[in-house]
Amino acid sequence: AVATALHQRLTNATPSRNKKSAATPTTTEEPTATTHTPTQPGEATSNQQDAGKPEARIGVLCRNHRGFVISLLAASRLGNDVVLLNTDFSATQLGDVTEREGVRLLLHDQEFDEVVEQSSFDGQRVHAWTDHPSDPRLPTIEELADTEPVAYKPPRPSRVVILTSGTTGTPKGARHDVSLAAVVPAALSHLMRVPVRSGAPILVAPPLFHVLGMAYMLVALGMGMPLVLLRRFNPGKVLDAVDAYRVEALVAVPVMLQRILDASRGRPLPDSLRVVVSGGSALHPHLSEAFMDVFGDVLHNVYGATETGWATIATPRDLREAPGTVGRPTFRLTIKILDEDGRELPSGEIGEIYTGGGLRFAGYTGGGGKRVHEGLAGSGDLGHFDSAGRLFVDGRADDMIVSGGENVFPGEVEDLLGRHPDVAEVAVVGVEDADFGQRLAAYVVREPGASIDEEDVKRYVKENLARYKVPRDVYFVDELPRTSSGKVRPHALPN
Ligand code: ATP
Repeated sequence: AVATALHQRLTNATPSRNKKSAATPTTTEEPTATTHTPTQPGEATSNQQDAGKPEARIGVLCRNHRGFVISLLAASRLGNDVVLLNTDFSATQLGDVTEREGVRLLLHDQEFDEVVEQSSFDGQRVHAWTDHPSDPRLPTIEELADTEPVAYKPPRPSRVVILTSGTTGTPKGARHDVSLAAVVPAALSHLMRVPVRSGAPILVAPPLFHVLGMAYMLVALGMGMPLVLLRRFNPGKVLDAVDAYRVEALVAVPVMLQRILDASRGRPLPDSLRVVVSGGSALHPHLSEAFMDVFGDVLHNVYGATETGWATIATPRDLREAPGTVGRPTFRLTIKILDEDGRELPSGEIGEIYTGGGLRFAGYTGGGGKRVHEGLAGSGDLGHFDSAGRLFVDGRADDMIVSGGENVFPGEVEDLLGRHPDVAEVAVVGVEDADFGQRLAAYVVREPGASIDEEDVKRYVKENLARYKVPRDVYFVDELPRTSSGKVRPHALPN
């Protein structure tokens, strides 16, 4: 029913240059999902091609709730490409990205009315279906049963455009094939390493528009796992929901896990959790150790990117034996460590991580791609294998700091400082230095009430790591600027 309603929107859309007149009516009237008479066989033919045109893309700008899932499935049923938009976008970014990606119909939550209206987006708009079971706009089961299936065949399988995190600049649109054919091998490869079971509730905390959230949403749908979603992340509410729904699997990014760990102190631990998956950015050893000491050996670390999906998975045992590892490649995924000349490096040596296989990455919107070497794509990350075949991500190539000729990966210093009892969060970056080329700067968020100062930070690093790894600049900040997928945005740190 929702697909039919969307199809009608797309095909009846009268393109208008006047943003206000195009936008106002669609947001004030109810979407037609429950009242629309389904398209009869043959009826849609004249409009089919129009709706199926690649440029007729449907944008989804939603928090994590049921309406997101319904909108995505309905839109992909039509064969239209679906663009998943970041809820943190400013009006300018939203306008730029919807234009670049050719979005003609935007499904969005009411709370984004203002940002959409201020943006240059001038296509059709519909409020997305909400997560509330009594939302009158959601078709009831009975109504769905009465609905004739949409009677046309999508001209081609729908693709979903997932944007990269934008850690290094404007988020790139990475196109994916979300047909079942793409999901099945990914879910299977996953099951071989992560003991989730069909029917067991799974809570996906990262935003669904990010590849990690999207991937696990698809696993949940594919495996028949009840999907528990919170509109916005809140560590206490995650723990409440785990208890309330007897959640067995939890997916989160590391900074969320840190906050869940903090929130778990002083309350009974949930006893239903069997699997916790961390992904999206580096899971530092100090956090994986602390988390498993409290929650038991449930933690997995997945490494991947918007372009590849899951590339490797570390099991709890891997994380105990080799803290900091991202584990081994998933089924049918090839990973090689190459030097700058494209030669494969032996275990122990650091080079760029190249991956092959994985999700069906169909390229970036507007063309362009990653560096490719013999069918493998460069990740932009530096890493190495250990002698047991476990992969370590040392850091992004762009983030490596070269100070006085020595290479420093910020992650190592961040992991150390993260162990300090007075440090809540920390980011280490390189800043230009007249003498050394670059020097290290640390941005520290103190634990509430803690008094750690600049000298303490420097002394602590000096006592534990090589001298050239000691940050020369230390700043104390209230919070670190992060992308919606939890990565620190180095360029947004105070200067
Ligand atoms: P952009 O390309 O827009 O700058 P991005 O690279 O952050 O954004 P994503 O696809 O969201 O876009 O992130 C993929 C990157 O995240 C990887 O290349 C890697 O640097 C990092 N990453 C993901 N998972 C892990 C992990 N488990 N451990 C370490 N790093 C990770």
